[in-house]
This record gives sequence, structure tokens and C-alpha cells, in this order.
Amino acid sequence: MKLKDKVAIITGAGSGLGRASALVFSKNGAKVVVADIVTKDAEETVQMIEAGGGDAISVLVDVSKSADCQKMIKAVIDTYGKLDIMFNNAGIGGKPAKIADCSEEEWDRIISINLRGTFLGTKYAIPEMIKGGGGVIISTASVGAVIPMRSSAAYGASKAGVLYLTRVAALEHARNNIRANCILPGGMDTSFMSNMFPGDPKRIDAMEQFSIKNTPLGRLASPAEVARIALFLASDDSSFVTGAAWNADGGWLLR
Ligand code: NAD
Repeated sequence: MKLKDKVAIITGAGSGLGRASALVFSKNGAKVVVADIVTKDAEETVQMIEAGGGDAISVLVDVSKSADCQKMIKAVIDTYGKLDIMFNNAGIGGKPAKIADCSEEEWDRIISINLRGTFLGTKYAIPEMIKGGGGVIISTASVGAVIPMRSSAAYGASKAGVLYLTRVAALEHARNNIRANCILPGGMDTSFMSNMFPGDPKRIDAMEQFSIKNTPLGRLASPAEVARIALFLASDDSSFVTGAAWNADGGWLLR
């Protein structure tokens, strides 16, 4: 019970890493606000938590929208009275394209969800954490934050921004007892890649093979094994860790 009596918001918790984290946080005693843009998926995560005896609510949120993020923070305070852990995890891969071929709309969409969404979640969580005497911010970046990949400028820039934002949040709020860290996953076995190429199994497979080829451990991660890193960063086990970018990549960044 590493998160006994803690209250967490997890964005993108209707699927993949967010859902796996919601389940492991709940198993460890946290009350969880399951925030996602797909209500049905968020509600399904809540049902899974409740079936395991945990406590959770779902909130419909588009993380790129300020009003939605403020509503999400209000929901956690109204329901559970405090916020200990903010996990900015919602993200999209978008449509891969070389810089000259990337539409301005697609650039804005990827940056808005991945980077602005993390900024808004962090911005509106901080005052509540200060009121409560401290807290933990976790954000999902990517190996793409630190290594350039072709056709991935918007995604990589958004995740490099998440890494930078994490470090500044850690610096600015260390004396408020707030720790901020991010996770750098490599390839994970979630719907992330299939959402990048809807209805195109060949390209989905090629993307998975690209990830596996670049991963010394030679496979994709299960969301549950990356969620255990989030649990570590959320709990007092990592009480002296702040401003870190935690690789969860099967060795991808060794190359
Ligand atoms: P996923 O597609 O299974 O989950 C993403 C979740 O985010 C979904 O539930 C989706 O509905 C939600 N979401 C999307 N846009 C949203 C928005 N505007 N507002 C609120 N919720 C929104 O994928 P995943 O792999 O679990 O992705 C989680 C994080 O991991 C993302 O930030 C992604 O960039 C990052 N990541 C994934 C991989 C990978 O290979 N899967 C690798 C590196 C980093």
C-alpha cells in the first residue's frame, strides 16, 4: 500500500499506460480520478478499479482545453478534498510526417495535447499541492524527447517540451515539497501505435517492428511494467528523486 490515503489524477487513464497506472495506484491505496477524452473508456477503468475494491471517479477532459483541466482539478477537490499526485499522461502520436509535409494544423494538434495538456495539468495542480503541503507531478514523455526520429518532429518537440517543463517544475517547487519527474517510455504495447495509423495494419506492424528493432531487450513493454515506474515516482520510495527523466525503454537510449 505505497499510496495509502493518497489522491491521484491520471490523464489518459481510459487506456494503455494511464489505465495500468490507475489500476496499480488503486491497488496501492490511492483514490483515482480517471481523466480521459473518451468517457466510455474512462468509465471502464473506474469499473475495473471498483471491481478490485478501490475508489475512483471518471472525468471527461480534453487536456488541451484550459476549462476542462480546471474542471478536472475542481472534481478532485470536490470529491476527495485534496490532490497528492498529478500524472500528466494523455498523449497522441499524431500523423507522422517530415517537417516540410507536416500541416500546421497537425503540428498544433500534437503540441496542444502533448505539451499544452501537460502544462495545463501541471499549472492547475500546483496551487492545490501547495495548499496540501506538497505533492508529486509525473508526466509521460518519450525516448523521442531526446533522440531525433524522422517524420516525428512535432511529437518529439512536444515530448522534449514535457521533459523541459518537468525540470522547471522540479526547480520552481522543490521548496514547496513538490517533486516533478517524467518517464521516457520506448515502445509500449498499447493502442498508441494503432491510433497513429487507423485501419492500416501494415504500417502499425512496421511501427511496432521499428520499436522492437531499436530496443536491446527486443520487445515492446507492457503498460503494467511502465506503470510500476509511475508507482515508484508517485510513492515515497522516490522521495529524493526530482527533475528526473526516467528511462523505461528496454535500453533504446543506449544506442
Ligand atoms: P493509448 O492510446 O493507449 O492511451 C492514450 C490515452 O490518452 C487514451 O485513453 C486517449 O483517449 C487519451 N487521450 C488522447 N487525447 C486526449 C486528450 N486530448 N485529452 C484527454 N485524454 C486524451 O496510448 P499509451 O501508449 O498508453 O500513451 C500514454 C502516453 O505514453 C502518451 O503520452 C504517449 O505519448 C506516451 N508514449 C507511448 C509510447 C508507446 O509506444 N505506446 C511510447 C512513448 C511514449
